[in-house]
Amino acid sequence: MRPSMTLRFAHQPDLAATMDIQIPALAWQPVGDGRWRRTYHLDGDPIPVEVTEADHALRFFFDTPPDTAALVRTRLTDAFGTMVGDLTLDTHPTLKAIRDRYRGVIVMTAAPFEALVLTILSQNRTGEIVRQVYPALAAASGGATPQRLAALSVDQLAALIRSAGPYKASRLAETAKIVATIGVDAFDRIVRQPGPQALVYLESLPGVAHKTAACVLVFAAATRTTLPVDTHLFRVVDRLGLASHAGRNTKTVRDQLIVTLLRYGPDLAPAHFLFLLVGRSTCTASAPNCGACFLAEHCQHAATTPPGSEQP
Ligand code: SF4
Repeated sequence: MRPSMTLRFAHQPDLAATMDIQIPALAWQPVGDGRWRRTYHLDGDPIPVEVTEADHALRFFFDTPPDTAALVRTRLTDAFGTMVGDLTLDTHPTLKAIRDRYRGVIVMTAAPFEALVLTILSQNRTGEIVRQVYPALAAASGGATPQRLAALSVDQLAALIRSAGPYKASRLAETAKIVATIGVDAFDRIVRQPGPQALVYLESLPGVAHKTAACVLVFAAATRTTLPVDTHLFRVVDRLGLASHAGRNTKTVRDQLIVTLLRYGPDLAPAHFLFLLVGRSTCTASAPNCGACFLAEHCQHAATTPPGSEQP
């Protein structure tokens, strides 16, 4: 198939890292040879799309009539937006080192409702499971829109999302009904409004706490005033000395940590997932592998811990 669209970038894209852990990336699946595939649904019709790396570019492949091709192009252009290398992370040597390491990673975005569904599915589950469940859910419903999910029974939803946790079916069904009632355009406007109201609104939805709401805001509304705090980020920023804390991830500690991190600049919000990449590679919970970590020369933990004596 000939490429249907090419997006060019200032840096060489790193598609594998891009697709690793970001919530919008969980709608995409690896299909071999460095290719990734997802299916968009336009009025219920499936439109499969593949993407692969090229020289300072991404090439997309899809087959669709001209009238819908423009819509697919718009969605793809929106989804693959900023590169990590273009974020302003010069305020601290550690952040600059992280940005330089991951400069080719693309910060992905999703529509608010899709981001919400993907994030709920990812609660307490791996990305691999979401990658299996979400396409099946979208295919069965003709696109995971609020109206189409609201039309499914809780039992149907539970069967479709079983490996992501059937207990999430009722919260997905309730949320879909709420969003279908107000309309997806109104929902998008609420989520994308500036200020704290969007966070408050999202946290009022069934099964949505701060981390899920912050994921939706960061990935679907380009929010720069909050970020999701998961166990990897909580651990890594402390070890690095960027935001030291003691104790458990309580609401008070989390809120202070977010304030501290955003003092390094608002681009910390879209860059938050880079700490998860570090946390899953060298800075694991069991024992940090500082000897193999590109951040060792910047790291408070590495500077104060003799080699071979790393403790979690
Ligand atoms: S140097 Fe060690 S403690 Fe610091 S971020 Fe890397 S693995 Fe974690």
